Amino acid sequence: MPNLHPVRRPLRVAIIGAGIGGLAAAVALRQRGCEVVLYERVEKLEEVGAGLQIGPNGVKVLRALGLEDELMRNAFEPLSIMSVTWDEGRLRFRQPLKEVSRQKYGAPYLSAHRADLHNLLRRATGDAPLHLGANCVGADTVNATAIARFADGSTAEADVIIAADGIRSAIRAQHFGDDAPRFTGMMAWRAIVPMNCVPTRIGPNGAVAVPHGEYFGWIGPNGHVICYPIGGNGDRLNIFGGHVTAEWVEESWSVPSSREELIAAKAGWNEALLDMFRHVEHVYKWGIYDRDPLPQWSRGRVTLLGDAAHPTMPTLAQGANMAIEDGYVLARLLARHGDDIAGALTAYVAERKPRTDWVTLKSREQFVSNQKPSPPPFVDRTWLFVNDVVREEPAHAPA
Ligand SMILES: Cc1cc2nc3c(=O)[nH]c(=O)nc-3n(C[C@H](O)[C@H](O)[C@H](O)COP(=O)(O)OP(=O)(O)OC[C@H]3O[C@@H](n4cnc5c(N)ncnc54)[C@H](O)[C@@H]3O)c2cc1C
Repeated sequence: MPNLHPVRRPLRVAIIGAGIGGLAAAVALRQRGCEVVLYERVEKLEEVGAGLQIGPNGVKVLRALGLEDELMRNAFEPLSIMSVTWDEGRLRFRQPLKEVSRQKYGAPYLSAHRADLHNLLRRATGDAPLHLGANCVGADTVNATAIARFADGSTAEADVIIAADGIRSAIRAQHFGDDAPRFTGMMAWRAIVPMNCVPTRIGPNGAVAVPHGEYFGWIGPNGHVICYPIGGNGDRLNIFGGHVTAEWVEESWSVPSSREELIAAKAGWNEALLDMFRHVEHVYKWGIYDRDPLPQWSRGRVTLLGDAAHPTMPTLAQGANMAIEDGYVLARLLARHGDDIAGALTAYVAERKPRTDWVTLKSREQFVSNQKPSPPPFVDRTWLFVNDVVREEPAHAPA
């Protein structure tokens, strides 16, 4: 007697790259019943020693993945956002953030150490195999399977391959052109300072109170400096020291630096800020790169995700949030389309591209605005925060 109702086997997905995007995709796919295997180039999994902002849109995805409680234990929720002048430390504006984010957007606006988010996602992948030291050099569709190739000559087969291998993705180069990322004209120092070294009053005669727990930015000529607490109890302050420059001369896009170099770059800025810089440790500097939006991200059974698809300037603090969203949407669509992989990948790109294109282009716009003598209001992210991807149907991007 033939089996008229064969049990459908789970979809097998290979994910290349175990950064925030690849791990988030793995958690979302496993939640939908897929079999996931991760392949990561580095020998030891670790994240950059710096902070990360997780917008309410990203938090809503992590909530849907069952990770919000653990996230809240490791992340900080800044009370308000304030902006001060670079030289005198005078208050430009102060706006509530914690209350507004919860009430208006339906989820908190968080700041975290990248390693804490990365570890949380890694744990949430459970027993999904993770192969370290696996340097992927390409991926192809062969008949009804996808095959990834690695530098050591080995291969891996799956129903779908997700390239979450970052801004210099080998799979992107293979399928969509090997042009280099674009240097954006911005570099940044990244550092962390203990909260007890952070001033609580700044400005003329200490007129501006900066209670610990605030997110504050110094906007000035040739760059802006963004500071926000990280860690569950906000006992450290993450510093992003942005700097506008025509070129990036270093061989790598991230190189060790020093507090002396950071202080020299911001010579003439407010003394309270420079004094804080004197206490930072482990200073790194980064060249900031992005790419123009790509018309297509999928080829056969291979698709791109996160920075591999749409690397973005950090001026709206959304690159990792977009990668997390990508993973959730892709898992939802693969589950919905069943054996129709082509249909799922077409729907994925159609749903994600308008949103990620918007973020890429608005992030550039924000960078230009930051350099104006009287910067216009910050890009309005309401649409991004309100229309979350956990809804079954996507919302359209505003013009
Ligand atoms: C200064 C700065 C500040 C930022 N701040 C924020 C912020 O506040 N909020 C926010 O949302 N975003 C922020 N971003 C953006 C965010 O960091 C990225 O968008 C995010 O890390 C992208 O995640 P990803 O997983 O796609 O790529 P990645 O994090 O780059 O991970 C890619 C992974 O793939 C691996 N890999 C690479 N090549 C191969 C290969 N050939 N084979 C196998 N594995 C490979 C890598 O080792 C890595 O583990 C910031 C970026 C910068 C530079």
